Amino acid sequence: MNTINVGGVEQFSLVDFPGKVAASVFMQGCPWRCPFCHNADLQTVGKDTHFIWGKFVEFLKTRKGLLDAVVFSGGEPLLQDTLPAAIKEVKELGFIIGLHTGGYRPSMFKQVLPLVDWVGFDIKAPFEVERYRQAIGGADHLAHVLESLDMLLASGVDFECRTTCDPRILEVKDILTIGESLHKKGVKNYYLQKYRPIPSDTTTTDADCEKFFDSPDLIKWLRENFANFDIRK
Ligand code: SF4
Repeated sequence: MNTINVGGVEQFSLVDFPGKVAASVFMQGCPWRCPFCHNADLQTVGKDTHFIWGKFVEFLKTRKGLLDAVVFSGGEPLLQDTLPAAIKEVKELGFIIGLHTGGYRPSMFKQVLPLVDWVGFDIKAPFEVERYRQAIGGADHLAHVLESLDMLLASGVDFECRTTCDPRILEVKDILTIGESLHKKGVKNYYLQKYRPIPSDTTTTDADCEKFFDSPDLIKWLRENFANFDIRK
């Protein structure tokens, strides 16, 4: 199997799959254009790259017993139709599987959910059509996201939700709105990620980025309402 487009590889990661030693593979392709994206190079499928799926599989064969997991990240892994076959190929080597996704494509998510052991699910904005459209760069995909999230909740697969706190598109009160929506749905694990300004963003200050974490009432509420909550800086 050598037909999945790979944009990058991390051979050793302690942060991509909680509690596991992992290798991560960054799939090419993303239908979204989040304003805080640090992976714009991955957004186009078929862009020239020296990363080849078959070479990554050969590398994994040398890491049996040394790595616990392989994480499929992106880009948006659900974009490529060959994702299920790629996951199966890695599972056959004995690794457990992590998946990072924004839930863009429920039909593909349904196919891969039975194959994965953990999901990191990105929540970009409050669940309002216009807000979500703005946060993902113009696509009208909130319904896809909600369908995928409900599927994930029903599946029993271990997962976390996480939000990148970009002060250009989110207010502090939006995090509470998101938290309340997730709590109502039964999400147990929620994490906030500090926005690191992209190179073209020369005006956002560190204080702007920190404001989400300086609200004691918000942080208290999040700690009380999720079994696991933390801030990743
Ligand atoms: S979903 Fe991820 S890869 Fe796609 S544009 Fe947003 S941040 Fe970038």
